Amino acid sequence: MSDVQIVNAPPGVEGSGFFATSLDKAIGLARSHSLWPLPFATSCCGIEFMATMGSNYDLSRFGAERLSFSPRQADLLMVMGTISKKMAPVLRQVYLQMAEPRWVIAVGACASSGGIFDTYSVLQGIDEIIPVDVYVPGCPPRPEGIIDGFMNIQELVRTEALRRRDSPEYTKLLASYGIQ
Ligand code: SF4
Repeated sequence: MSDVQIVNAPPGVEGSGFFATSLDKAIGLARSHSLWPLPFATSCCGIEFMATMGSNYDLSRFGAERLSFSPRQADLLMVMGTISKKMAPVLRQVYLQMAEPRWVIAVGACASSGGIFDTYSVLQGIDEIIPVDVYVPGCPPRPEGIIDGFMNIQELVRTEALRRRDSPEYTKLLASYGIQ
């Protein structure tokens, strides 16, 4: 007997030969399964990301096999590793060059909080310079943890209102980082 399970149909109006839904749900579904990540990997957490892209874990199952090393062709910034204060302006520049809508994952303790490097030279979390959507704990997180963080991003992307990026709340969030 097959152990393949049939999932329930998404909410919408069904009928013979048609399925009606709203535009933002259709766009959210398409976006969430076609994310183009930009891996900003500076140290050991980057190695876990390489494992996540490998055949055992295979992030392409989630529609994200097309990595982008150009910020202008990416919509998901994945920051993996220790970010020194010298590197911070570079990371911020990469973020600024990404077009909206864009999302950010802080992968691992260093990107999330500076990790074990509570020193004068290390940024104590990338959210000091750019907004972060999802934090993945661990030093390093295993590929399962990275995939879990990625799936949380997918959920955010799928359910995000199309007008969120034009909202006063979002403008205020960016303004709190000095971004117009
Ligand atoms: S969180 Fe741990 S594994 Fe990841 S970059 Fe920092 S020290 Fe390395």
